[in-house]
Amino acid sequence: MSILAIRNIGTLVSGDLETGILDADTILCSGGVISHIGKGLDVSKADVVVDAQGTTVIPGLIDSHCHVVLGDYTPRQRTVGFLESYTHGGITSVISPGEIHAPGRPKDAAGVKGLAVAARACFLNFRPNGMKVHAGAIVIEPTLSEEDFKEVAEQGVWLAKFGFGDFKDPYDGEPQIRWAQKYGIKVMCHSGGASIPGSKPITADHLMKLRPDVCGHVNGGPTALTDEGVERVVRESDMWLQVVQAGNLKKTLDIIGLAVEHEQLGRVMIASDTPTGTGVIPLGVIKTVCEIASLTGLSPEKTVALATGNNARAYNLRSGVIAEGREADLVVMDAPWGSVASDALGAIARGDIPGISAVIIDGKVRTLRSRNTPAPTRMAQVRPEMEWLLEAH
Ligand SMILES: [Zn+2]
Repeated sequence: MSILAIRNIGTLVSGDLETGILDADTILCSGGVISHIGKGLDVSKADVVVDAQGTTVIPGLIDSHCHVVLGDYTPRQRTVGFLESYTHGGITSVISPGEIHAPGRPKDAAGVKGLAVAARACFLNFRPNGMKVHAGAIVIEPTLSEEDFKEVAEQGVWLAKFGFGDFKDPYDGEPQIRWAQKYGIKVMCHSGGASIPGSKPITADHLMKLRPDVCGHVNGGPTALTDEGVERVVRESDMWLQVVQAGNLKKTLDIIGLAVEHEQLGRVMIASDTPTGTGVIPLGVIKTVCEIASLTGLSPEKTVALATGNNARAYNLRSGVIAEGREADLVVMDAPWGSVASDALGAIARGDIPGISAVIIDGKVRTLRSRNTPAPTRMAQVRPEMEWLLEAH
């Protein structure tokens, strides 16, 4: 089994909200999984050694709301290769909120089921630059029966999206949401104003009755809930609260404030909600992390946890946290060249997007210097040399 080591780590961010920063400077990964974390560990047996040069390592970012369809292409913004580009933004896994941008998306039960099953299967076999694409989120339509949810769950579908179906009233979708959940399917619900044609506004009252697992873009996608509505879902429910780059920043800040006040940060998850009308944003997740940390004062390591460990908990993923036995999806970063900050966390606290110098997925180096972030002040060094990775981009 191939062994990868990262040594000389200055700051190691666990991605877990409670744990915060780990007291260690070396990570060993074997067979794509983190095997050891410690200080000054022996790296002589490693096939590949990444020297972090005293910089920061965080878990690979998880975008829990990324509009994939099929292949590395978004019909919404007619962009090829966006997922590969997102890995250069430190995003190593994405969750599909339903393949709703599929041109001519079917509404009949057979078509809806077929699209979800096919999208999931395709992305199991297709990983742009190693990215884990959790796709095949069935779009909940009134044409779906309980038997349909049972059938797709048996075929491996474990994600669903509510908010784009042909329901006259969003309340009418409650039975379908319950059936999906009954068969172990995680339901993300649109929240706030209508987005694309065919969607309807979904209010806090709807969310409280529908009780999805995840309130998608609770800060708006892109139009936010009312102030009272946001407060209700934070205070009176236990649903996951997703805040996104392509939403309302003012509401994101309000939600973080409420979550801190009511000790509900453990339910807040960061996503991009792109590609959408807002654009293709490879830095959508890290930019949101910087905005939240710099504008609310939440510590950078806690804010990173909202985009990593919290997303992993919401979706039971084995990535997202740096701990022994977890998937080795890691990002090496430093303060961007020219920043006043002296390290990546200092940069995040100031609202400066850090410079990424390596992205590792399943224990394999996938990119060195990011082509999308600013240049890091200190660059990770890799042995044996992987110049091809730099040249390839
Ligand atoms: Zn969306």
